[in-house]
Amino acid sequence: MTCKSACQCSFRMASNSSLMSRCLNGRICRVAFTRSLSSVWCSRSYSGISIQKGELAAVLQADTVADTASDNGRKKERVVILGSGWAGYALAHSLDPSKYERVVISPRSYFVFTPLLASTAVGTLEFRTILEPVRRLKEVDLYQGWADDIDFTNKTVLVEANTADDLATKTIVSPTGGRPRVPGIKGKQYTVSYDKLAIACGAYSQTFGIEGVREHAHFLRDIGDARRIRLRVLSLFEQCSHRSVDPANKSTEDDTAGHLTDDDRRNLLHFAIVGGGPTGIEFAAELNDLIYEDLGPIYPDLLQFVQITVYDIAPKVLPMFDQVLAKYAMDTFARHGIQVRTEHHLERIRLADGPLGSEHGALKIKVRENGDEEVGAGLVVWSTGLMQNPLVSKLATKEFTLPSTETPQDPTPSRLLKDPKTGGLVTDAHLRARIDTPDGATKVLDDVFVIGDCAAVAENGRALPKTAQVASQQAVYLAKRFNAGDVEAEPFRFRNWGTLTYLGSWKAIHQSAADSLKGRTAWIVWRGAYLTKSMSIRNKILVPVYWIISWIFGRGISRF
Ligand SMILES: Cc1cc2nc3c(=O)[nH]c(=O)nc-3n(C[C@H](O)[C@H](O)[C@H](O)COP(=O)(O)OP(=O)(O)OC[C@H]3O[C@@H](n4cnc5c(N)ncnc54)[C@H](O)[C@@H]3O)c2cc1C
Repeated sequence: MTCKSACQCSFRMASNSSLMSRCLNGRICRVAFTRSLSSVWCSRSYSGISIQKGELAAVLQADTVADTASDNGRKKERVVILGSGWAGYALAHSLDPSKYERVVISPRSYFVFTPLLASTAVGTLEFRTILEPVRRLKEVDLYQGWADDIDFTNKTVLVEANTADDLATKTIVSPTGGRPRVPGIKGKQYTVSYDKLAIACGAYSQTFGIEGVREHAHFLRDIGDARRIRLRVLSLFEQCSHRSVDPANKSTEDDTAGHLTDDDRRNLLHFAIVGGGPTGIEFAAELNDLIYEDLGPIYPDLLQFVQITVYDIAPKVLPMFDQVLAKYAMDTFARHGIQVRTEHHLERIRLADGPLGSEHGALKIKVRENGDEEVGAGLVVWSTGLMQNPLVSKLATKEFTLPSTETPQDPTPSRLLKDPKTGGLVTDAHLRARIDTPDGATKVLDDVFVIGDCAAVAENGRALPKTAQVASQQAVYLAKRFNAGDVEAEPFRFRNWGTLTYLGSWKAIHQSAADSLKGRTAWIVWRGAYLTKSMSIRNKILVPVYWIISWIFGRGISRF
């Protein structure tokens, strides 16, 4: 029997044989066949099984080691990409499908446009408008799971299937610093081979071991985080609005049913944001817009209790902006009543005592500069610090011998070079993973590339920042070089398009080498930049539509 899928292998199968697990190309696929068929279609991924005629006899999922172009004579090289973030998704998107077989391994099935996450967390945009499903990329195979290990010698990736979508859509900080797991459940493991490998698995949130952050703070890194934050903010207003007495009785007493005093409301409606970088500042601004433009008219009595505070340990927030723009940002925040507490060290977060904590989820924050006095809060958003992805940490300590294709062959064990400061994997100027050599000479793994937040790339002696700009430019550069079949033609050069931060009420700041803008003009640049960068035409249409809908009808405030 013959395989009729795009890989065109000659599928061997004894007639009336038992269930087939894979085609000759060893695809990790479901194979469907009927005994009456003279041919079998194997899918390029878990979807899209086609049967010509006859009944479906069996569909199964197989664990296979997919072999590489060099092994089986296929025309196209397989590029395996770890991660579907800014770096991974953009690489899969930009690689020429006529030249490469593209395989994405990622625990989540979509790309998320992180700069607009804060907008979804406050209901300005709907969640799906900032997501791009990987499956929409034509001819891209997606294996939904975590790359758990890489065998650089045999060029294979060990993958553990993601057993629950939920594990990868929101930030879960494990106590050991590893990746999230459902206790007691291990996903199915399989290996995938590669010709070229791009490690683009991003970074994790860093809690600096501060007590209670892992358990009680909200992170803002993925779509599930944004959903949780939106739900919490709306729910806090609802809880604080509960009246104990039938309004028909015209009584003004409102503290007995929910047992909430004005002090309790003040605690619950205190929103603490930790981290004064662009992400924390933008979230504070967006939250302020939501509260005063949409929730204020609904809960006018509660506005007196609302407070938003940004905490940072640094002497100033928004350090990447010049003095004038940073001051403009602080003045704008001061006018909005948003407090900024610089040089403040958060030391602990815990649940408040009594029913306020157990029933309403109120928190107590200990800040070193406040001494023993704790600050109450209904929501703490943790927007500071990155730590290395556990896979990267594991790879950086692993010893391996070079693949036989590497020249010159070297039997001594090698190790990937790790940046001592960030823990990222060090690359050369062509984004190839560097190897630690005793003599300090630059040596690389020819077919292994590292891009995005997990890479440590230096330019002119300075480390590139961990931003979407860098990650997407690296991906586009790599795709261009792969498509041209000439990795070494030119080195990667980062072009800084500038930094933008939204400040609320249709004001922003923008700084680049060419100019610096503030106020409404910068806000127009901010929206324009995000719109042009939204990946699909669908979202390029949806995002402005939702901006207009929110402007005319208000933000989405349903709780679900
Ligand atoms: C709220 C927010 C706002 C931001 N705003 C901006 C901005 O305005 N401008 C800007 O330049 N930058 C911004 N950033 C930073 C930017 O999002 C990151 O620098 C960028 O996402 C890094 O891209 P990446 O592909 O390296 O990692 P990510 O985008 O984090 O993607 C990592 C991918 O790897 C997957 N993964 C994780 N572990 C594994 C594994 N073991 N195996 C396989 N896959 C794995 C993840 O599921 C994910 O798909 C923002 C970040 C946040 C959180």
